[in-house]
Amino acid sequence: MARYTGPVCRICRRYGDKLMLKGDKCVTKCTLDKRSAPPGMPQTRRRKLSDRALQLREKQKARYSYGVLEKQFVRYYKDAVRHPGVTGENLVRSLELRLDNIVHRMGFADSLKQARQLVLHGHIMLNGRKTDVPSAATKAADVIGWTATSKKTEYYKTAQANMSSKSAPSWLNVDAAQMTGRIVAAPGIAETPTKFDPAVIVEYYSR
Ligand code: SF4
Repeated sequence: MARYTGPVCRICRRYGDKLMLKGDKCVTKCTLDKRSAPPGMPQTRRRKLSDRALQLREKQKARYSYGVLEKQFVRYYKDAVRHPGVTGENLVRSLELRLDNIVHRMGFADSLKQARQLVLHGHIMLNGRKTDVPSAATKAADVIGWTATSKKTEYYKTAQANMSSKSAPSWLNVDAAQMTGRIVAAPGIAETPTKFDPAVIVEYYSR
């Protein structure tokens, strides 16, 4: 399945939940507040969703929240099963530790999409090495920074000036002046508020 490139607010309307797909913009102005009806023809009668459909919804919400394709998502799930611990928690942890997500969480980008672009365009360094793979897996003690050329860009200067309005989660240590960040520890489930239920996703794949 190709990556979805249409209007992202339609996804939130489809699932009736604010998935915050536009990042910081969603906080100031949200389409769902004005148009909450699902996209498409107005439904005259509300269908009751089956358990399977509800599980699929949770899985899709997770996929869209992290901008991951189905094939990649299945890979994350299989990895989560292989590792010791609670599968749902392992799944969320590995999604959170994707490089593009870390760049967003550190406040270097306003949205996940923007963070993905920053990584793809080679602006980001992971442990001192330029990394242009948004899905690159990070771990505790990894350091995220910017390449020397990127530090001269207008984007960098604006992002640095805006850092005072950003707040990173407790498992990340961000130096706003230097525009670098360190992963203190892999996040626990309590530190990663999700818009989906990971346990239901596990049920979806365990069938
Ligand atoms: Fe659009 Fe963001 Fe609101 Fe979702 S949360 S509907 S992406 S503005």
